[in-house]
Amino acid sequence: MDLFEHQARQLFEEHGILVPRAEVTDAHKEAREIARRLGGRVVVKAQVKTGGRGKAGGVKLAADPAAAEITARQILGMDIKGHTVRTVMLAQPVDIQREFYVSYVLDRAAGRFLAIASAEGGMEIEEVAAARPEAVVRIPVDPAEGVTSAKAAEIADAAGLPPQTADVLVRLWDILKREDALLVEVNPLVQSAQGQILALDGKVTLDDNARFRQARWGEQAEPHDEELEARAAAKGLNYVKLDGDVGIIGNGAGLVMSTLDVVAGCGARPANFLDIGGGASARVMADGLSVILSDPSVKSVFVNVFGGITACDAVADGIVQALDEVRLTKPLVVRLDGNNSARGRAILDDRAHPLVEQAPTMDGAARRAADLANAA
Ligand code: GDP
Ligand code: MN
Repeated sequence: MDLFEHQARQLFEEHGILVPRAEVTDAHKEAREIARRLGGRVVVKAQVKTGGRGKAGGVKLAADPAAAEITARQILGMDIKGHTVRTVMLAQPVDIQREFYVSYVLDRAAGRFLAIASAEGGMEIEEVAAARPEAVVRIPVDPAEGVTSAKAAEIADAAGLPPQTADVLVRLWDILKREDALLVEVNPLVQSAQGQILALDGKVTLDDNARFRQARWGEQAEPHDEELEARAAAKGLNYVKLDGDVGIIGNGAGLVMSTLDVVAGCGARPANFLDIGGGASARVMADGLSVILSDPSVKSVFVNVFGGITACDAVADGIVQALDEVRLTKPLVVRLDGNNSARGRAILDDRAHPLVEQAPTMDGAARRAADLANAA
């Protein structure tokens, strides 16, 4: 799970890294009062879990409280790379002298972490790495040894960062370790005109395998793609997010893949897909459907099951169970064939939900699901 910038900022603060004073709000009127509390001039920053907010117009300087309110109103509700801005953070502006980049990222292949650092921060690090690879240093970090003062000094020196940044590097490592993070990134880490080192923007990705230790972040999380993936994974389901609008559930990887192709062939784009696997129970089907329906981009759902080991009546029971547990607001097209399909179809006919329809063939069902999504 990714944290919002303001959550990363909070972690930095708790671990003794200097950050600008800041407050978060979801109401532009409140932005005025916050700006007043922060001294008038503020930076208004969209809180979305994606980078490049600055370029997208999601980071703006406001000269006074009135301007802060206007700017907050402009930014709230904005769409940044598919993320709707629900909150903004207002922060005291910093007089920046130099901008740096620092991060720790898990290097899965090597079984250790990498410290990545550059004296050319502020812009996207991928761009720096592409244009001037020598300006970005990568230093392996053995997770058992961690980042000691000596190691931090080595990283800072190799990247050409001022020696005072070494202290921040040690603290960032503590955050990574303490919070079970897979990524901790500060871009920019800045040196202010007064010579202080401050973290101006942060990205922290937590390891979902340690969710049991991360309850404090749970409530503030937005139900976005990764969370659905995590929710599906927690239930033993294979869920993959795509960028279209037909939700797809099938049993078995082969059938699911061909379902994607058939839906695409009907002129619609899959929003996601979920494989309930072989021998799926009603419970698995109900869980799968609730995951698919939680994806806000889904406009119609296509359940395509060919019963082999999987019994179609169990699948139908699962759909009925899901209908009792979640309110269906999107049309559902179901194609059941194979093992116990007649019983499965009868169960759905009996339930007679107005948004559920059945189609006897895969092609027909795909066409119907595609039409429903395109008409929505
Ligand atoms: P991102 O575009 O999502 O990475 O958002 P950032 O928080 O990194 O902001 C983008 C850029 O805005 C930074 O690299 C800075 O150059 C600039 N910026 C952000 N906060 C401040 C600030 O307090 N003072 C000044 N002068 N620039 C800022
Ligand atoms: Mn940034």
